[in-house]
Amino acid sequence: MNILVTGGAGYIGSVCVEQLLNAGHGVTVFDNLSEGHRSAVDPRAKLITGDLQTRCDIEDALEATRPEAVMHFAANALVGESMTNPSKYFRNNVVGGINLLDAMHAVGCKRFVFSSTCATFGVPDRMPIDETLPQRPINPYGESKLMFEQVLRWYSEIHDLKYVALRYFNAAGASETYGEDHRIETHLIPNVLKVALGQKEHVEIYGTDYPTPDGTCIRDYIHILDLAQAHMLALTAPQSAKYNLGTGGGTSVREIIATCEKVTGKKIAVVEKPRRAGDPPRLIAGSDKVRAELGWKPQFQDVEKIIASAWAWHVKHPNGYGD
Ligand code: UDP
Repeated sequence: MNILVTGGAGYIGSVCVEQLLNAGHGVTVFDNLSEGHRSAVDPRAKLITGDLQTRCDIEDALEATRPEAVMHFAANALVGESMTNPSKYFRNNVVGGINLLDAMHAVGCKRFVFSSTCATFGVPDRMPIDETLPQRPINPYGESKLMFEQVLRWYSEIHDLKYVALRYFNAAGASETYGEDHRIETHLIPNVLKVALGQKEHVEIYGTDYPTPDGTCIRDYIHILDLAQAHMLALTAPQSAKYNLGTGGGTSVREIIATCEKVTGKKIAVVEKPRRAGDPPRLIAGSDKVRAELGWKPQFQDVEKIIASAWAWHVKHPNGYGD
């Protein structure tokens, strides 16, 4: 297929682009390079630098490429930042997304795969989090993604758009070539690995008084190659759907740090801090629906293997993409 990938220069987008190309698809990346990196774009893909806030940028890109499907990764995705700058989240994640859908409608492109998030569920009443639970976000990031899911529902009814929304849990790990390099790193695993690389003195633990066995937050870490696989399957989904995407396993912040020590052979210094605003204590995916309906099967069930792939990438790229 001929596919346009927004945010294809970012962490998850870059790996999906690589996997799409490996599977024989043609790919155009649309990215404003605010968070992404030019060198994270697979050289087999075409890169269009543009911004979803500027309607003519995305209209021109779609007019020029006429894709059969769009994968939409371009978004802001930091819970903490969204609690201080909600406007950025609603503008980029909702308004930018609507500009994209309208431009797709204008050229008759009717297939869409959306990067949604478990943050749309807030603090759920039970675990694991399956698709039947109510969505009650507790931060603007989750709210912005939920709003866009609702936009998608109406565009699919009114404009006959076929979409799949994939609600990721915690993306982690790397492919052999592409990995995680945010200009300001807030994520747990890369921050711990920076300590192992000697680039940071310690990692901070945000909250040790959560109602969990060791007092730290529990997350479901999913390998980006498994995420990429789900995107590929979503391209041919017979009907519009929303799926939760995680391994079903839960790992605490302290367990992540201990596993990083094991994988890297380095001692990780920690400093305990208060809770970070907007963080639910425990998020674990119920992914039976995507396994049953799309035949998705994660290859990386073991967080140690996920961290090992991230570590291999960081050792090879100690300064990330270097820009
Ligand atoms: N976290 C932490 N120290 C860090 C970064 C994150 O203790 O330097 C915690 C964070 O509070 C959350 C978990 O690690 O409970 C995962 O956070 P991350 O930012 O990686 O992903 P999120 O769950 O916010 O998408």
